[in-house]
Amino acid sequence: MEDKKEKSLYEGFKLFLRAVRVSHTLERRLYPTIFLANAISALTPYVVIYLSALILNELSFYRRPEYLWKFVILTVGVSGGLSLISAILRHVRNKEYEVFQVNYRKLFVDKAFEMDYQDISDQETFDLRSKIQQAENWAGWGFECVMRVFLGLTRSVTGIIGALALTASLFFIKVPATNQKLQFLNNPIFMLLFFGFLIGLSLIAGKLAGYVYKCYANSAEEATLGNRIYSYFGFFNSAKRDVDIRMYEQGRIMNYYFLKENAFTINGPLAKLARGRGGVCASVAKACSAVLTGGVYLFTCLKAIAGAFGIGSITRYVGAATQFSLYMTDLIGSISNIKNNVPFLENCFMYLDMPNRMYKGSLTTEKRADRNYDVEFKDVSFKYPGTDAWALRHVSIKFKVGKRLAVVGENGSGKTTFIKLLCRLYDPQEGEILLNGIDIKKYDYKDYMDIFSVVFQDFELLSQPLADNIAGNKDYDAKRVMKVLEDVGFTERLATMPNGIETLLYSEYIKEGVNLSGGEEQKVAIARALYKDAPFLILDEPTAALDPIAEADIYSHLNTIVDDRTAVYISHRLSSCRFCDEILVFDKGAIVERGTHEGLLENVKGKYYELWNAQARHYITHFSA
Ligand code: ADP
Repeated sequence: MEDKKEKSLYEGFKLFLRAVRVSHTLERRLYPTIFLANAISALTPYVVIYLSALILNELSFYRRPEYLWKFVILTVGVSGGLSLISAILRHVRNKEYEVFQVNYRKLFVDKAFEMDYQDISDQETFDLRSKIQQAENWAGWGFECVMRVFLGLTRSVTGIIGALALTASLFFIKVPATNQKLQFLNNPIFMLLFFGFLIGLSLIAGKLAGYVYKCYANSAEEATLGNRIYSYFGFFNSAKRDVDIRMYEQGRIMNYYFLKENAFTINGPLAKLARGRGGVCASVAKACSAVLTGGVYLFTCLKAIAGAFGIGSITRYVGAATQFSLYMTDLIGSISNIKNNVPFLENCFMYLDMPNRMYKGSLTTEKRADRNYDVEFKDVSFKYPGTDAWALRHVSIKFKVGKRLAVVGENGSGKTTFIKLLCRLYDPQEGEILLNGIDIKKYDYKDYMDIFSVVFQDFELLSQPLADNIAGNKDYDAKRVMKVLEDVGFTERLATMPNGIETLLYSEYIKEGVNLSGGEEQKVAIARALYKDAPFLILDEPTAALDPIAEADIYSHLNTIVDDRTAVYISHRLSSCRFCDEILVFDKGAIVERGTHEGLLENVKGKYYELWNAQARHYITHFSA
């Protein structure tokens, strides 16, 4: 997934511009305000330096009170005014940035929602998303860095232009002929050398600063892994794990990672970098800036002593030249970061560019009050991505509208895969699945999914109020919520909940949140499926977590609950399927038998007979023990 080859600055710049364009669409006022706020704050010091120089010149040389007070008022007024404008613009910029942040998060969340299930459930996608997140959390790499670079470029380019405007005359004002000793300061070759010295030192300082950023960017993998380990061990929040930690003294493993095997320890790679190359380069960069300031002081003071200009101009030139050096470092640092940020932006775009291959259909499904939808598997075969084994092979079945269909088989025989294909979480490699005679790929995905309510084995409820969970929405029909909870036998439990259907589930947010048992969760999940009121109701191992009494209770209600819907049950307890109109028996991805319970039992050589007897034996041994 990762291309280790270092990218050129040009490629970095292209990516940078693309990220600026994307960020701009997320919040259109952000970049203009960054530009204005930073350009003005970069120019403000020069205005102050220029005006202070005028005041000093008046004080030390011209001594004209009528000008002096005008300059003082002008300096105070202009610097106050500019600072105020800067502060307002910074405030607006920060506000725009907040809006951008929200839209930026939403961009990734929306992407995850629209991505093919096959991609979002893939470990590589998960790793990629984690890498992006960790690089952002660690040192603001990725889009945040783009903003910092844009900010740095605006600030430094404006600053450099301002500095050049203020210092240009330093080179052109000549030492008067009266001072023979310092005439060399007028020599164009000397001036060229001195200018070269200024630029050279600024470039070295900038390059070194860029190198330090690069070292840190190269440590991203170790640092983000370190952060991951800290969050993994530092925010354990699972009652289940806490028991194990105490039981097996797993604190020892945590300590090992916290104190020894971690990027952030005192002898870790980041500390070594700070003590070694990184620290040295950062110090040399600072030293270059200091030498540069010293050089400018020397040159300017010599010219002033020689009578080229007054004391006030020294402040102006030194101030401007120091700013120049800072902005040069800033500029080169920002340019290096365009390159350093390349792998992080590539990850962002790799994620955002993931194509949506599956959910492209546009046909709308016919809304039928009689729930008469014909769904058919036609010789369907399927392998999970990245695997060679067929999880389903030559499966053909036409669902009978309004009937109850059971799907049984050993673990791994393909039952859940069959449902996943029906819900278009994956597309089959061979054969087709038809809705009313048309390939389901041709339908708009959301429209198609309206036909199904599914309770998967590994469903999860949200830490949100019970009613919101059931309706999948903050707006819900309370009467319907109560009805479905009653249908699944949840009424008694509901009576014990402090805020009825408004009770918050789980205590992730507040301690008053209510925790449910596995069986209760399953009832709520079934209630959620019923609330959706889709023509097809699919329950994958619907009663696995229920105790036998609750199971019997649900099954006794099931026929009424299901009403005129087409229902599909996947169940490991064959006895639960006896009431179904048809039973499909899966084995190694294929449908090996189909029929009613009684009919299937007549085939003593069949898979169903074998499974039935195995379960019967299990129950007999189990209960007679
Ligand atoms: P069942 O529901 O009958 O227990 P499944 O449909 O879950 O069986 O699995 C059918 C086969 O597909 C099994 O061999 C299983 O290991 C494999 N399988 C299931 N999910 C995945 C997956 N996400 N990736 C790869 N193989 C999978």
